[in-house]
Amino acid sequence: MAEKTLDNLFYDTLKDIYYAERKIVKALPKMARGAQSPELKAAFEKHRDETEWQIDQLQQVFDIIGKRAMGKTCDAIEGILAEGDEILEEYEGTDALDAGLIAAAQAVEHYEITRYGTLKRWATLLGHDDAAQLLDGILQQESKTDEDLTALADARANEKAQGAKAA
Ligand code: FE
Ligand code: FE
Ligand code: FE
Repeated sequence: MAEKTLDNLFYDTLKDIYYAERKIVKALPKMARGAQSPELKAAFEKHRDETEWQIDQLQQVFDIIGKRAMGKTCDAIEGILAEGDEILEEYEGTDALDAGLIAAAQAVEHYEITRYGTLKRWATLLGHDDAAQLLDGILQQESKTDEDLTALADARANEKAQGAKAA
């Protein structure tokens, strides 16, 4: 078997997150339609647009390393998104739906954050500073999204799920 190096890991992991982002961009409109609060709907719609931008950025990273942009099945994102679908089905019409959707979406963001954190470091080590910068840009966007979701959970969704007396 041929020797494998950080180059292989970088390309394979880039394909993994490229696959994941293309699944996420299709899942977010469904989550936006499902969300009850206008704020959460807007957050999902905003992140759908950001995800389109991220896919474009990833294509630029493939260009920088001189490799074809292609996906590699990511079982993790399939599972995380399947859990989101479960929430949509099982909590439809309940006060706990938005809190569940936020939690599901944060699982996605955290998967992305770990991927981009790794990819950014590997890009730097491989001498692709321009790619590292693009990956860091995406990483910042995922982190901000995660923080915004926490804020929405704290502001209202968790309390609503808990069945607190109406404010
Ligand atoms: Fe993303
Ligand atoms: Fe994966
Ligand atoms: Fe994201």
